[in-house]
Amino acid sequence: MRTTSTVVVQGRQRVERYGIYFARIAGRNRSVYRQVDGEIEFADACKCFTDWQPDFTVTRSLDCPIDEHRILALRELAA
Ligand SMILES: [Zn+2]
Repeated sequence: MRTTSTVVVQGRQRVERYGIYFARIAGRNRSVYRQVDGEIEFADACKCFTDWQPDFTVTRSLDCPIDEHRILALRELAA
């Protein structure tokens, strides 16, 4: 089974892999997330807290513009 596929959405070629996409925008490859409504958001818009040391851990932020991350943050709150 292939884990990577290339599809064309809204005229943009993108590569799908584990929920993160690489979209070619203005001649540059940008990593983006797909939103719940199907729109995309740049991965670098992410406002989650990343702690690189000593172990790589990510705390999802409710302020993150990426839907998937806000959903995870809400789940953590509810847990
Ligand atoms: Zn985020």
